[in-house]
Amino acid sequence: MNFCSNCGAPVEFRIPAGDSHPRHVCPRCGTIHYQNPKLVVGALAEWEDRILLCRRAIEPRHGFWTLPAGFMENEETTAEAAARETEEEACARIEVGELYTLIDVPHISQVHLIYRARLLDLDFRAGEESLEVALFREEDIPWEQIAFRTIGMSLRYFFDDRRRGHWPFHSASLPPPPSAA
Ligand SMILES: [Zn+2]
Repeated sequence: MNFCSNCGAPVEFRIPAGDSHPRHVCPRCGTIHYQNPKLVVGALAEWEDRILLCRRAIEPRHGFWTLPAGFMENEETTAEAAARETEEEACARIEVGELYTLIDVPHISQVHLIYRARLLDLDFRAGEESLEVALFREEDIPWEQIAFRTIGMSLRYFFDDRRRGHWPFHSASLPPPPSAA
């Protein structure tokens, strides 16, 4: 942030009095522009023994596969966000079930939440942000072409839990990748 969104003056980056973190502070109007982690919410939607995946038409990770997921909007619930992202990316309708994974990604200031869900019908197709959308059995999952580590983790939890026949909630924290590449 370079300019105050309240008054347009150049902002300073410093620790405000009584605070512990540096913030963007406006020297003209005094506004402190707090920045907080973002929630990424998605759905692991099942149809019989298959899972709905989308191949990304946008960066980052163009051409890689993901669960339908995206940034939560203001004034919606997390379950609504999961259903909305599935509608937008896969033009698919789901019944949202239990919250399944919560993965902290502190080095990029994000929290990823994945719900289990049930696909309501087979009338899906690629949305604006997807190249294609398809249902995958476990043996057909393109593990080497999964877009994000949190999505791969959620899928592995899912197939492991399905083998064991129980469905605990999973929370985890993801360290930075080994290389910055
Ligand atoms: Zn200002």
